[in-house]
Amino acid sequence: MSASAPANPKVGFVSLGCPKALVDSERILTQLRVEGYDIVQTYDDADVVVVNTCGFIDSAVTESLDAIGEAIAENGKVIVTGCLGKRSELIREAHPDVLSISGPQDYGSVMSAVHAALPPRHDPFVDLVPRRAADNDIGVKLTPKHYAYLKISEGCNHRCSFCIIPSMRGDLVSRPVDEVLREAEKLAMGGVKELLVISQDTSAYGVDVKYAERQWRGKGYQTRMKALCEGLSELGVWTRLHYVYPYPHVDEIIPLMADDKLLPYLDIPFQHASPRVLKLMKRPGAVDKTLERIQRWRSIAPDIAIRSTFIVGFPGETDAEFEELLDFLDEAQLDRVGAFAYSPVDGAKANDLPDPVPDEVKQERLARFMERQAEISAAKLEAKVGSRQRCLVDAIDGELAIARSMADAPEIDGLVQIQNGESAGLRVGQFVDVEIMGSDEHDLFGEAVEND
Ligand code: SF4
Repeated sequence: MSASAPANPKVGFVSLGCPKALVDSERILTQLRVEGYDIVQTYDDADVVVVNTCGFIDSAVTESLDAIGEAIAENGKVIVTGCLGKRSELIREAHPDVLSISGPQDYGSVMSAVHAALPPRHDPFVDLVPRRAADNDIGVKLTPKHYAYLKISEGCNHRCSFCIIPSMRGDLVSRPVDEVLREAEKLAMGGVKELLVISQDTSAYGVDVKYAERQWRGKGYQTRMKALCEGLSELGVWTRLHYVYPYPHVDEIIPLMADDKLLPYLDIPFQHASPRVLKLMKRPGAVDKTLERIQRWRSIAPDIAIRSTFIVGFPGETDAEFEELLDFLDEAQLDRVGAFAYSPVDGAKANDLPDPVPDEVKQERLARFMERQAEISAAKLEAKVGSRQRCLVDAIDGELAIARSMADAPEIDGLVQIQNGESAGLRVGQFVDVEIMGSDEHDLFGEAVEND
């Protein structure tokens, strides 16, 4: 009788932050699995814990430091990586016992730290054969099986005054288009139905490599947003674009939406509508042109859903400038909007600007802003009652199926609740046409009428 095989070394993993950090976590987890580490769910079970941190705003810094503290208290052996890793002195000061600190996308340093703390188990039977991290050979994914984030670049060439991402992640570095398309192809073959394209600035894709052309499936594609979208449209899955900076050439991709090659959805952070505030933010400020362009986009792709984010109470924002922002909301009639009251980020240039807006004024402006947008969103959703919407099922909850329409990105937008989900035999990851029968401020309600 042979002795039972020794157990694999066990790693606990805490993943914080934005979708870009999530993709970093997936890469590290994939590598850990490839090298024979088991990923475990509790501190007690783990031999070592990796914490992937976020350092974007002060509350994220606190959350990350708390997570590191909890891992040290519960486990004791902690490796820190991610955006906050760029500020190692802050981490060392709060938690001198962490084993190692590395910055974002520094997969090599994380793996070296894991190897030092917990050597991989040598297995003569599998070491010659690369072990696959997942049954479909696409790596460990932290998202459900039917959608996936596709990271196309790192870093950013802009210097928005409220943001420290360029100082943490550096200037734009685009992934070659063929590499991105191959990854997307694998994801689609593995059952992914929706690709969420992410970066710090999706519309700048390829500018750093002078839009170099690469070959994929025997055809030339430029490393450029439009060519990438054309390639992705060959895969027969939904493609959704996030973090699109409002450059003029965004106009080029709207016809792809009209032709059903790309989801009619744009996540385009406008941040403000007053030209003076935008200038202080170091963002493009031609608001009249923005409104004209939105109208033009809608004339080409009438179903386009535009999502945006805004900052209220930016230093120096006057009452009149805040009113300009509300007027913009009325005119732009955006579908989905997120807003933040400005909060200073350590190291951001905007901290040096004069005339900070008092906290209570910021909060009051934020509430007025959200109230105005809630009315707009509710009216836009109500206008969909009676229509038929193509949806993707995310979950089954009793008789209900919880789905999203083309206008809804996961996590940040609304849902479509399908009342007869179970009786219609719907499954997670399935496309279905839904007759919309009701709405509220965020969500739609309806019944499945046909499915694939
Ligand atoms: S475009 Fe985005 S990531 Fe780049 S500096 Fe501005 S806010 Fe930061």
